[in-house]
Amino acid sequence: MTSMGELLASGRRSFSFEFFPPKTPKGERTLWEAIRRVEALAPDFVSVTYGAGGSSRDRTVAITERILTETTLRPIAHLTAVGHSVTELRRIVGRYADAGIRDVLALRGDPPGDPQGEWVPHPEGLTYAAELVELLKSVGSFTVGVAAFPERHPRSPSWESDIRHFVAKCRAGADYAITQMFFDPEDYLRLRDRLAAAGCDTPVIPEIMPATGYDQIRRFAELSNAAFPPDLARRLEAARGRPEEGHRIGVDHATAMGERLLAEGAPGLHYITLNSSSAAVEIHRNLVPGRTSSLLTAA
Ligand code: FAD
Repeated sequence: MTSMGELLASGRRSFSFEFFPPKTPKGERTLWEAIRRVEALAPDFVSVTYGAGGSSRDRTVAITERILTETTLRPIAHLTAVGHSVTELRRIVGRYADAGIRDVLALRGDPPGDPQGEWVPHPEGLTYAAELVELLKSVGSFTVGVAAFPERHPRSPSWESDIRHFVAKCRAGADYAITQMFFDPEDYLRLRDRLAAAGCDTPVIPEIMPATGYDQIRRFAELSNAAFPPDLARRLEAARGRPEEGHRIGVDHATAMGERLLAEGAPGLHYITLNSSSAAVEIHRNLVPGRTSSLLTAA
C-alpha cells in the first residue's frame, strides 16, 4: 500500500472516498457494504469523519482501525479539537499510532449542536486546527491533512485572513488539504490562484459531493455554507419525487465538475459517499473508467 507521503511525493492524482460513523447496526451494515464496493475500485485512501461527541467518536476510531486491519484500503482518520483537552487528543493520537494508523485529517471542528454558534475551546484544549497539526507532527510520523474552503471559511472576516491562516496551517506541518464541498469548479480554481499568490504549494484535493436530491443538498449547502448554483437547484427541484432523475442530475453535474478539475490539474478527487456509495462510484467510473481492482467483478 502506497503511503500518503509517497503518494504526495509522486505527484500522482489521487482518488478517495469519505464515510461517516453510522448510529445503528443497520447503518453499520450499509457502511460496510459501501466500503467493500469502494475497495473494488482500489482508491488511494478512504477517510472517516469525526462526530460531535461521545459514542460516534469511538465509532470513528473503531471503524478506522477495522478498515486498516480488514481491508486493503488506506484509512485516514478525521480528528477535531471540539470538547477535547490536549491530554485526550494525545491519547486518541496514541491509539491511532498503536493501531498503525499514520494518516490524520486535523480539524478544529464546529460547536456541537449549532455549527454556526459561538466557538468555545475546551479549557485545556486547542483553539485552531494549526495547533492540532503541530500536536500530530510532534508526537510521531503522521502525514497530516487539513481543511480548505473554496468559498472561504464562514467565520473568516476576509479572504486575506482566510488565506493567511490556511497558509499558517500548512507551515505548521500540513502535508495536504481536502476542501469543503462546493458546486462550482471556479471556486476551487480561484482558491488555488489565491494560494499560489501567497506562495503556498500544499496540494489541495477537491471534495466532490454528488448533488442527487434537492432537499438534502439544500440542507448540506446551508450547513457547510456552500453556494447551491441556481441552475442545479432548479433542475433538482424539478426532479423532486423522482429519485432516479435526481441521481442522474447529481452524477452528471459531479462528473462534469470532476472532469474540469482534473483537466485544470487538481491533485485528486475526494468523493463524499454518505455511506451509500452508488453515486460516488458511478462518478468515479465515469471519470476513471479503467482504474479498478480484480475485486470489482464481485461488486
Ligand atoms: P481552522 O483552520 O482552525 O479555522 C477556523 C477559522 O479560524 C477560520 O475562519 C480560520 O481562518 C480562523 N483561524 C485559523 N487560525 C487563526 C488564528 N490564529 N487567529 C484567528 N483566526 C484563525 N467537522 C467535524 O466535526 N468532523 C469532521 O470529520 C469534519 N471533517 C471535515 C472534512 C473536510 C474536508 C472539511 C473541509 C471540513 C470538515 N469538518 C469536519 C468541518 C470543520 O471542522 C469545520 O469547517 C470547522 O469550522 C473548520 O475547521 P478548520 O480545521 O478549517 O479550522
